[in-house]
Amino acid sequence: MSGERLNFAVGPVMMHESIRSIGKEQIPYFRTPEFSGVMKENEGMLKKIAGAPKESRVVFLTGSGTAGMEMAVMNSFSQKDKVLVVNGGSFGERFEKLCGIYKIPWESILLNPGEPLTKSCLEQYSGRGFTGMLINMHETSTGVLYDMGMIGDFCRSNHIFLVVDAISAFLADRVAMEEWGIGLLILSSQKALALPPGMSFLVLGEKAMQRAGKAEVKSLYFRITEYLKDGECGQTPYTPAVSVLLQLNLRLKQVLEMGIENEIRRVHGLSVYFRENIKKMPFEMLTSSPSNAVTALVPLTGASAYQYFEKLDKEYDIWVCPNSGALKDKVFRVGHIGEVGQKEYDRLLNALHEIVEEGI
Ligand SMILES: *Cc1c(COP(=O)(O)O)cnc(C)c1O
Repeated sequence: MSGERLNFAVGPVMMHESIRSIGKEQIPYFRTPEFSGVMKENEGMLKKIAGAPKESRVVFLTGSGTAGMEMAVMNSFSQKDKVLVVNGGSFGERFEKLCGIYKIPWESILLNPGEPLTKSCLEQYSGRGFTGMLINMHETSTGVLYDMGMIGDFCRSNHIFLVVDAISAFLADRVAMEEWGIGLLILSSQKALALPPGMSFLVLGEKAMQRAGKAEVKSLYFRITEYLKDGECGQTPYTPAVSVLLQLNLRLKQVLEMGIENEIRRVHGLSVYFRENIKKMPFEMLTSSPSNAVTALVPLTGASAYQYFEKLDKEYDIWVCPNSGALKDKVFRVGHIGEVGQKEYDRLLNALHEIVEEGI
């Protein structure tokens, strides 16, 4: 063991000291003008970083990313819609499950693990009466980043309402809501935002607000119209994860000060550093279309991928991210998000080197 535990999982991730120190404070009462001011700032900063249209609004939902996905589906679609779902892994599959639960007619584009979505594949769904599309910009389970410019064009020309889960892409890869014609964007606190888990953020364009206004939502907590109403004065209908929202405020200010491009370049640089160095070792990348956030690796040694996770955890005090289901023995993932730098990757690379030397 050499030094403190490192976490290269894909959320929750390592947090900066300045963010952690907010977490130890007492929680302030939040129905105050001061907290409303913080929330208004949060809304403006999130919109700016997401490249959202001027008239868009942000819903602050206390709940993990999946709660954000569920809120988006419930408030955007009904039995009258016909939704195209991209299923390239477990997060795409989650959108299918949500459509099933809420009886929303859907059809899937099923991709193999690591397979990018191509233009020719997508074009087959043109002119077929789809009214909505659900996609994870980055399918975190396999590390694939989809071409959002292409998907945006497809949705524009087919008049499809586009809902994008950019939970693990935001601040790791460029997100451009208006440019890509995204109607509703889903974000969450514990990925590249590098905050504690527990908050989701939905950025709604004009059309998303119209859809939410007409939706018959069979839930109290997940009704977007309530959040929009209270959000006008910087409040939420129910008690939010107050400390995470204070941490969000600091984190967004830090990002804007550093420059959004610089922050994304930093994450990109770490992914390149790791990928360049792993080339010398018996691992193969699962996808030819990787995000900056994650590298999904297939061991070529014949050993189970899960063994690497276990050995790194038990013998080196390092967490990487194992896969589950059919990919459990085939793939493990290394994240490039959160408070990590080259020094930390050197420790991981050395550990991987030793494990490989051992003949695993
Ligand atoms: C992490 C993640 C989520 C949210 O998962 P939770 O465990 O509910 O926070 C959703 N979509 C993607 C693409 C993710 O990476």
